[in-house]
Amino acid sequence: LIEANAKEIAALETLDNGKPIRDALTGDVPGTASLYRYYAGWADKIHGKTLPVAGPFHTYTRHEPVGVCGQIIPWNFPMLMQAYKWAPALACGCTSVLKPAEQTPLSALRIAELAMEAGFPDGVVNVVPGFGPTAGAAIAHHADVDKVAFTGSTAVGKAILKASAETNLKRVSLELGGKSPNIIFADADVETAAKFAYFALFFNMGQCCCAGSRLFVEDKVYDQVLNLITDRAKKQKIGDPFDHATTHGPQVSQEQCNTVMRYISAGQKEGARCVTGGKRVDRAGYFIEPTVFDNVRDEMTIAKEEIFGPVLTVLRFKDVDEVIQRGNNTVYGLAAAVWTKDIGKAHRLAAGLKAGTVWINCYNVFDNAAPFGGYKMSGIGRELGEYALSNYTEVKTVVTAIG
Ligand code: ADP
Repeated sequence: LIEANAKEIAALETLDNGKPIRDALTGDVPGTASLYRYYAGWADKIHGKTLPVAGPFHTYTRHEPVGVCGQIIPWNFPMLMQAYKWAPALACGCTSVLKPAEQTPLSALRIAELAMEAGFPDGVVNVVPGFGPTAGAAIAHHADVDKVAFTGSTAVGKAILKASAETNLKRVSLELGGKSPNIIFADADVETAAKFAYFALFFNMGQCCCAGSRLFVEDKVYDQVLNLITDRAKKQKIGDPFDHATTHGPQVSQEQCNTVMRYISAGQKEGARCVTGGKRVDRAGYFIEPTVFDNVRDEMTIAKEEIFGPVLTVLRFKDVDEVIQRGNNTVYGLAAAVWTKDIGKAHRLAAGLKAGTVWINCYNVFDNAAPFGGYKMSGIGRELGEYALSNYTEVKTVVTAIG
């Protein structure tokens, strides 16, 4: 049904979020359908183990549904986030009360309608649109909610964990912010690395939790990479997200637009050099030019805080140990990437970087089967793949005396 209604759902997503329709049609909708298919495959493959315990006992585990799941999602990939939450929960036999972000409730409601059309029993999936401090907090505090899964900001993630602690200790999984290092070595295929470094940050107008927002470039190729990225930024087609040629749409809301513009001013005030962009686009809507900052130092606000907008900070480095240390010098740990043809160096970085995902010579490669989540303040738990099933199951041990 999602596939049959692809154009309509993609249009709802673009209408709500402002993302280019071509991204919604080629990414969000097929990604959503494929994720539901993937977890449908898990539904009859979730089982416990038989354990060889001491003594005359037959012992086995059952992986039971955790129960009622409160699921609170953000506005950057609304229908994909709904699938990240609903698909594993349903495969494990749970029910869901989902709160979409207040900015983007439409696709969640439409997909819930399609679930009814598909014949889901009443009450299995529920959508409660509303604001965070009211509808969201009610879910996080509710004594009959057994588990809460949240994707959004680190500040709200902490509030959710606190609400659990103060009420019924509902299970909590969190996927939060990031300030992911994307590291280009001089021995990489520099043109490809620069092209993907652009995509790593500017995809979805920078509104991605795993955005490669700290671009570390080795001294020897620094100017070359900076020029390639700046040229790409200038060539984007900024405009109406419903125009199929548009590659760069608006930010989701006035509030987000203001926040991003405040970060741009902070960058300028603290002495970073804006090499391209830096301004609102002169047209109606919350458009911001793709913005690149050079001369960035690690301690600057724009190098430390998650901007969640089209603002790339470029940092210079000289050697491997230095870049591992600086890459990890953040409270976050969602993703990282390394670009090099030296396989040993690549894996040394993969091991050394504290991040839930490390991409080598690629970026933003997601798969239904590959877990995603954060170290440190980027979250608790993993979504996607077999790993996500543990968020939605309780393990019960059954011991039978057979002596
Ligand atoms: P962003 O800053 O990206 O908008 P938020 O973390 O504020 O991210 O929002 C993500 C989701 O969390 C949204 O659905 C929002 O309504 C919800 N939310 C915001 N505040 C709270 C809260 N206090 N309790 C529960 N949910 C909340």
